[in-house]
Amino acid sequence: MAFDANQWVRPHILALAPYSSARDEYTGKEGIFLDANENPLGSVGPNTHNRYPDPYQHALKEQIGRLKGVSPAHIFMGNGSDEPIDLLIRAFCEPREHAVLITPPTYGMYKVSAQINAVQVQEVLLNPDFTLDSGRVLAAVTPQTRIIFLCSPNNPTGNLMAATEVEKVLEGFPGLVVVDEAYIDFTDQPSWISALPRYPNLVVLQTFSKAWGLAALRAGLAFADPSIIRLLNKIKPPYNINAATQAMLAEALAHANSKERMVQEILQEREVLIASLKPLPGVQVIYPSDANFVLIKVAEPDRLYAFLAGRKVVVRNRSSQPLCEGCLRITVGTKAENTALLEAIKVFFGHQQ
Ligand SMILES: *Cc1c(COP(=O)(O)O)cnc(C)c1O
Repeated sequence: MAFDANQWVRPHILALAPYSSARDEYTGKEGIFLDANENPLGSVGPNTHNRYPDPYQHALKEQIGRLKGVSPAHIFMGNGSDEPIDLLIRAFCEPREHAVLITPPTYGMYKVSAQINAVQVQEVLLNPDFTLDSGRVLAAVTPQTRIIFLCSPNNPTGNLMAATEVEKVLEGFPGLVVVDEAYIDFTDQPSWISALPRYPNLVVLQTFSKAWGLAALRAGLAFADPSIIRLLNKIKPPYNINAATQAMLAEALAHANSKERMVQEILQEREVLIASLKPLPGVQVIYPSDANFVLIKVAEPDRLYAFLAGRKVVVRNRSSQPLCEGCLRITVGTKAENTALLEAIKVFFGHQQ
């Protein structure tokens, strides 16, 4: 389907002349830099951070592009993937006029970002087994709908969305379809990045916060048609990825194999955790997971949650989310952490008898 980002973007964003930073106008590495009012003597503290970072992270995008099999023009970097979520809404949704469509239960930031921007939120629940119903999604689209957010593997349910259903949404909706792949490293399914040439309305989100173990650095990725990437670059804060983060990501990307090793270990522990939860009579359902967490259903989620917290084991209570009655979301920890969790759950259920 033909998608023209310039026809969907808010007109004043299209017309906007972005801030041009000192480091945009002169990009050479060598020189006497008297253009940015930096401190020429160095930095306070043990490390040198006196120069502004590359606003477009060129070197990093080369590395990421090689790893993901896309050109740098298809890559946007954000301060966490929460930043592109917000920027997409700001670029494409007129406050008090347009809407985004989400499929609860799902990641909370789509709704929060929309509400911060005074953009309506249209909600189409997943099926009770957490699968995606493209027919119901497309039927709920109105002329106001600008972006559909899908999450696969989904948070908090852990399941992948069927590719055929995602494709029907991509084909049936003329606006932007965002597929959030924060947990893609934990599945053996391919990323939607490879579908970008077929779907110019597709945006794929990934993050360094989960499998890469770099949540504190705040780095997320959006992959999309260059026309969409240009619009995001136009409205982002100029130096949204700081120099320390850029340097540490460059090192991490050179060691992608250790991410793979950690993923394998987490997946093994996930299976151990699931096998250990299964025989516990108080655990009513363990939902299948393609992520680094497991959603379980129990009879008294609030009491179990509080009991665990009292033993300093912190899980996520999702029982108030639609379709998630009784559900707690448990991140896969280390072997020792999972053992402590299981011991505490056993004590809780033991006390009830
Ligand atoms: C954790 C998570 C994110 C990542 O957020 P960052 O801002 O990159 O840390 C994005 N989407 C989903 C579904 C998540 O669970």
